[in-house]
Amino acid sequence: MMMFDILRIIGKLMTNKRIFLSLSKQSGFEQKYIQKALEDNWITSGGPNVNDFEKVLKNYLDDKIFVTALNSGTSAIHLALILLGVGIGDEVICQSLTFSASANPILYQGAIPVFVDSETETWNICPKSLEIAIQDRISKGKKPKAIIAVHLYGNPYKVDEIHTIAKRYEIPVLEDSAEALGSTYKGKKCGTFGTYGVLSFNGNKIITTSSGGVLISNSQSSKEKAIFYATQSKDKAIHYEHSQIGYNYRMSNVCAGIGLGQMEILKQNIIARREINSFYERIFKNIDEIHFFQVTNNDCFSNYWLSTILVEPNEKKNIDRESLRLAFENANIECRPIWKPMHLQPLFSNYPYYGNNVAEYLFERGLCLPSGSYLTNHEKDRIKEVIFNFFKIA
Ligand SMILES: *Cc1c(COP(=O)(O)O)cnc(C)c1O
Repeated sequence: MMMFDILRIIGKLMTNKRIFLSLSKQSGFEQKYIQKALEDNWITSGGPNVNDFEKVLKNYLDDKIFVTALNSGTSAIHLALILLGVGIGDEVICQSLTFSASANPILYQGAIPVFVDSETETWNICPKSLEIAIQDRISKGKKPKAIIAVHLYGNPYKVDEIHTIAKRYEIPVLEDSAEALGSTYKGKKCGTFGTYGVLSFNGNKIITTSSGGVLISNSQSSKEKAIFYATQSKDKAIHYEHSQIGYNYRMSNVCAGIGLGQMEILKQNIIARREINSFYERIFKNIDEIHFFQVTNNDCFSNYWLSTILVEPNEKKNIDRESLRLAFENANIECRPIWKPMHLQPLFSNYPYYGNNVAEYLFERGLCLPSGSYLTNHEKDRIKEVIFNFFKIA
C-alpha cells in the first residue's frame, strides 16, 4: 500500500469518528479534587469533597435550599418518595413523557403510577390533564400522594400553572430536574420549586460525576433524614441498630471530586449547549418538514441539554423521523428518538393514563440531535452536510 493510501484511510477514520448524542467534557480541575480525596484517604461515601460539592451547588442554586449528594438521580427520586411518605398502594402522578428513572422509584415503593400527558408548548406535564387526573383519582377514592413533573431536555415545565394546581389540592411536587441544571423559570433555578427537587450527574448530563445526583429540599431536617436513609438508616446507638429500611445511596467522595471539577465549567457548558441550539436553529429555519423546538416563553431559560426537532412525515419525499435518523447513522452520527412515553411502555401499560395523546404524537416525530458540550466545527460541518443532503438543499 502506498503512503498516500494509508494517509487517506487514516484521514477517513478520523473524519468518520462517531459523533455522540451527549458527551460531557472535562475541565482539567477534576484531577486536583480526586487527588485530594486520595491524599486525605477519604475513599468512601461521604467526606470533605461531598460536603464541598453540596456547598458549591447550594451556592449556585439558591442559598435557602438544602442539598444532599447521592449516588444517582434515581436514588434521589426514590428518597424523595420515601420522605413524602409514599408507600404500598399509594398513587403518584408522573409525567408520561420522560425517562423511566422518573417513574421506576414509584414501583420500588409498591405504589401506583398515574401517568399524565404533555402539552405542546414545553412538551412537559399538561396542566389541564393534570387537574382532570387529580379530580378523577379523588373521585375514585384516593388522593395522589405526589406529582412528579419533569423539565424535559432542560426545558422548564409550566411552573406557575402546575404548582398552583398542586397547591389547590395540597399535593406536594417532586421536581425532576435531572436534565435541567442551570435552567431557570422567572429567574429562579430549576430544581428549587418543588417540595423536593432532583438533579442528575450521570455521564450524559450537562455535568457529570460519572454517576451521581442530588436531592434538593427545604429544611435542614429533611436533609438529615435523607442522609439517614442514604446511609443504611442507622439509629443512634453504639452498636448497629436499625428500626427502618436503609439504603446505600450516599455519593462517593471520589465522585464528588469530579463534580467539584465539573462545576468550574458548568456555565461554559450551558453557553456551549445553547450555542449548538442556535446552530441547529439556523439550519432548520427554512425546512418545512421540521419543527425546531425552542423555548417560546420569556419566563423560561433552557440549558438546552439536548436540542430536539419534530419531523413531519412526508411520504412523497420519503421523509420521516426514522429515515432522517438513519441518514445520520450512516454518517456515524448518533441521534435518538425522544423518550418513549411511560404509558406506552410494556412495564407501565396497565397503569392509569390521562391525556389526549400529545406525548404519543411527539414521540412519533421527535428526534434528539447531537448536543454534547463542545462539538468541533468539523463535527458541525458533518452534521450540516447530512441535513443538507437529506433535504436536498444545495
Ligand atoms: C437521567 C435522568 C434521571 C436519572 O438520573 P440518574 O443519575 O441516571 O439515575 C431521572 N430523570 C430524568 C428525566 C433523567 O433524564
